[in-house]
Formats: sequence, C-alpha cells, structure tokens
Amino acid sequence: MFDIYNRDINYLRVSVTDRCNLRCSYCMPKEGFSRIGHDDILRYEEIRRIIRIAAGLGITKIRITGGEPLVRRGVAEFIASLRAIPELKDISLTTNGILLESCAEDLFAAGIRRINISLDSLNADKYARITRGGEIHAVLHGIRKVRETGFSPIKINIVAIKGFNDDEILDFARMTIKNPYQIRFIELMPLGHAGIENNGRYISNALVRERIESFGRLEPVNGPGNGDEGPARIYRLAGGAGEIGFISPVSGHFCGTCNRLRLTAEGHLRTCLLSDDETDLRGPLRAGCANAELEKLIREAIARKPREHQIACTDHLIKKCMKEMPAIGG
Ligand code: SAM
Ligand code: SF4
Repeated sequence: MFDIYNRDINYLRVSVTDRCNLRCSYCMPKEGFSRIGHDDILRYEEIRRIIRIAAGLGITKIRITGGEPLVRRGVAEFIASLRAIPELKDISLTTNGILLESCAEDLFAAGIRRINISLDSLNADKYARITRGGEIHAVLHGIRKVRETGFSPIKINIVAIKGFNDDEILDFARMTIKNPYQIRFIELMPLGHAGIENNGRYISNALVRERIESFGRLEPVNGPGNGDEGPARIYRLAGGAGEIGFISPVSGHFCGTCNRLRLTAEGHLRTCLLSDDETDLRGPLRAGCANAELEKLIREAIARKPREHQIACTDHLIKKCMKEMPAIGG
C-alpha cells in the first residue's frame, strides 16, 4: 500500500515484548522504565491476526524485535507460525544475542535466516558497562553459533557513542576483513529519557567513515535498486570477506523512502519511530471488532504517516520523542 507521499509501505517491525535482559544506557534510563502490564502485551494470536491483515494491505517483510525478543517464551514457535501467511516474503530478527546460542537452532528451524545482533563494544568491561551488566562472551558465542548454523546475512549493529566506543571503530571495521559479517554503524538517536542522559554523545557517520577510510578504501556494495538493505549504505574494505554499513537516521534521514510501520508490544501501530503518534489496535481488537475495522485503522494510520521526522541534525540533539526504544520496538 502506498502512502500519500508515494512510499510503498511493505515493512512491519513487530515488538513482541518491551522486556529486556540488558539495560543499554542509550536505550533505557538507568532506573529502568515502566513496563507494560502482562495483560496489556499482545498475545501471539493477536499479533498474528494484525500481521495477517497488514499482509493483506501489502506488508511483505517482518522484523521481530523488542525489547529483547528472545526473552519472550515461545518466540520461535510464533515465528514459525507466520510462515503460513503467504504474502510474507521475509521474516528477520534483531536481538542482543545474550540468549542466542541456545535459541539459534530453533530460530533457524522456524525459518529465520537474516539476523541482526547488537554489540556496542568488543571489550568485555566496556560491554558490561554500556549494557549495565551484560556478559560479552554470551553474545560472542551466539554469533559463532549462528554462523555455524548457517544464518546469512549476519549483521552486527553498533551504536557509535562519543567517548565510549569511538576508539573501537577500526577494530569493528577490521572484523570484516576475515569474517563474513555486515558491521553496521548506527547513529545515536535521542529517544526518551535515555536520550536526555546521552545528550552530546552523538557522532555522525561521516566521522565514523572518515576514521575507517584512514585505514582502508571503502568500495560501495549496494547501488540504486538494492532495496534489500533499506536505509543502510553498504561498503566493503578492499578484499574483505564482510561488509560495512552506515545507518544515519540523524545526519542523513531516509524519511523519503521509509517503508516501515511498527507494532508496539502493547498493540499500537506507529508509523514513525520518532513520532509518538500511535494508533491503538489492541483496544478495538479486544473489543471484538471485525478484520475490516482493523484494516481501516491501519489504512488511516498509514495515511497519517509523517513526511519526515523532526530531529535536529546537530551534535547536541535536543528534540526527542518521549517513548523509550524498548517500548517502541527498535
Ligand atoms: N534488544 C534487541 C537489540 O538490542 O538488538 C532488539 C531491540 S533494540 C531496541 C534494536 C536496535 O535499536 C539495537 O540495534 C539498538 O542498538 C538500537 N537502539 C536502541 N536505542 C537506540 C538509540 N537511542 N539510538 C540508536 N539506536 C538505538
Ligand atoms: Fe535491551 Fe536492545 Fe535496548 Fe539494549 S538496545 S536495552 S538489548 S532493547
């Protein structure tokens, strides 16, 4: 389905939980944030129903996310059940990797092939600090396991943060020389209270790229027409086995080609990550409405999808949206 700016809306990111087994400092405030009550989180059959209706409206790609999706019991079975929706061409997953080693085979059997794993430092102490207690070896074992199991592509997400991991940019880039991973640098976005706490720590991807180019030449991989990579700009260090991607929501927003919707864990449809305008689908769904009514609500939400977000492209990001990332579904 096309929106009023002629964008083909075909991608739905589904947050299956706002819970997380980590507390990354750029994503959550240190005191945590109020969780959605257990009964207010959509049940799997409710999510499936919404996905089925959205698929009828043109959604062909789903990404399962959170919070941390692997902390929700039964997620692999849920994912497997989505394969019965014929319009879906691609189902992928974003995870912090902590539980990945034990879940990898079930996820593979459920049909997941494309996986994104967040890893913001290669140093165990720093990783523990940014995640407020995370154990890096669990993630590294998870990455090894998905590689052995046959997942592809394996993408590793790094949020570049001034004074924290900007000294590791080259270490991450060097990983792509021998490993077939796609290392993706994501610009820090100012969301919720964590956004306030991290004010001034944003680094533009132009700077990240400059650092990498001081080490080796970057050859572009994706050209126009490679819609598969979405907003990422993809490169390869000459002769490297893997790739390096830049996702620049702040310095070079991609609103003009944004094809996404988000379904929050509590069942709200969000048409822009950075706008708090949401459409409640859970209320009508639990009140017993017909599919046609849900379809109408989704269509109306798409019609209101903003043309672009309002974040200032400066070092000191001031504007923010007040909902925390785990509640939205990153
Ligand atoms: N828990 C999973 C994980 O960490 O991959 C999935 C959810 S997480 C919200 C999804 C992605 O959002 C992660 O790659 C994370 O680094 C990114 N993210 C969270 N807060 C962010 C922020 N303020 N700016 C940029 N990226 C952010
Ligand atoms: Fe959890 Fe992912 Fe947010 Fe980290 S980035 S706190 S792992 S949801």
